Amino acid sequence: MSSNNEMNQDFIVIGAGIIGLATAERLLAQGAAVTILERGTVGQESSWAGGGVLSPLCPWNYPDEVTRLTSYSASLFAAWVHSLHAASGIDPEYEMSGMLVLPPFDAHAAQQWCVAHEVKVEKNFSAPSATVPSFPTIGRDVWEQGDALLLPEVAQVRNPRLLRALHSRVKALGGHIIEQCAVHDIVTGGSRVQTLTTACGTFSAAQGYIVTAGAWSKQVLGQHALNLNIKPMRGQMLLFRFATAPLRPILLQDDLYLIYRRDGHLLIGSTLEDVGFNKQTTIAARNDLLERAQRLVPALGNMPLMQHWAGLRPASPHNIPTIGRHPQLDNLYINSGHFRYGVTMAPASASILLNEITGMPQPFDVAPYQAGWGI
Ligand SMILES: Cc1cc2nc3c(=O)[nH]c(=O)nc-3n(C[C@H](O)[C@H](O)[C@H](O)COP(=O)(O)OP(=O)(O)OC[C@H]3O[C@@H](n4cnc5c(N)ncnc54)[C@H](O)[C@@H]3O)c2cc1C
Repeated sequence: MSSNNEMNQDFIVIGAGIIGLATAERLLAQGAAVTILERGTVGQESSWAGGGVLSPLCPWNYPDEVTRLTSYSASLFAAWVHSLHAASGIDPEYEMSGMLVLPPFDAHAAQQWCVAHEVKVEKNFSAPSATVPSFPTIGRDVWEQGDALLLPEVAQVRNPRLLRALHSRVKALGGHIIEQCAVHDIVTGGSRVQTLTTACGTFSAAQGYIVTAGAWSKQVLGQHALNLNIKPMRGQMLLFRFATAPLRPILLQDDLYLIYRRDGHLLIGSTLEDVGFNKQTTIAARNDLLERAQRLVPALGNMPLMQHWAGLRPASPHNIPTIGRHPQLDNLYINSGHFRYGVTMAPASASILLNEITGMPQPFDVAPYQAGWGI
């Protein structure tokens, strides 16, 4: 299939989270006609709920398939966000705020990984540096557990703003978004998808159908999911607000992270809970996150909690998403299973899928993103 052919094609994208919107934007920019079917409202599920850290937490704990995707995305992100801001007037507040990894963590693995991947490490802060003026609130007991590592090039974005900018861009490019339109069934004939049955009627005759339904992707695929192992994994977040400009960078300790925003907001996350399609928040998680965060920022003890929410990540084994054509159905594609890093991986994943559809060269071997089908 040539890319020129592709310009005339039309696609139906199922699910309007960050992945569906980013995928639609890339297709629209190539001249394709795109309809997005969204069960609820655009960008209100996992993509809204996330923290917007544009890096794996402790990236040395992940396989190369994750690193390749996140590094490629990192190389695309600034320009992508800039173009969305310029086109939509909505600032996603992309910022290279850095990430301070606090002990305990595997310092040897971290150093080796940073050297191997040419990731900048600005400084190792060690115990007596508890006086480091940038981090005055962090208690001495934290520093006594070992050195901290500052990754200055880790960036962040405000997810709701990024989603609004992307939504606006997709509409401006002519994308047709239908909300309150859950896809119920994928009807096939031969080796092709023929029809989608949905809450808002049937859709057929598209050249390509793309599943970007996050944690619900396996449900949407139904019998066509083969051995795909994408399941919901709940994450809870807390939101506070400080009056004055808060500290930078992002703080990370184990699975706990604190993300400061320009306007004084502070996000605290997150839990990792295997509880099915359950988005309830819990008092136990709130107390646990707060207690651990207070050890890093004691002032939180006096602050009112502004908001507490939960989202369902599309969890995949080893955090490796599935991107590309269905192994048995020629006109069915998937871009899903980004688990903890869907915002981080969005521009790279959208590019890889576009290359797959148009037959353009890939930036690296993308075969591992087909392994999720399990066949
Ligand atoms: C608490 C938390 C913190 C996170 N922090 C970060 C972070 O700091 N950095 C990072 O990179 N990632 C983070 N993530 C992960 C990231 O948010 C996800 O990987 C990403 O949002 C997945 O995007 P998605 O578009 O695949 O899924 P979603 O945003 O969930 O979108 C899927 C869409 O499909 C729709 N849909 C479902 N079923 C159907 C159907 N039958 N028909 C039509 N539409 C349907 C849904 O309504 C939804 O809008 C976090 C996630 C959580 C929950």
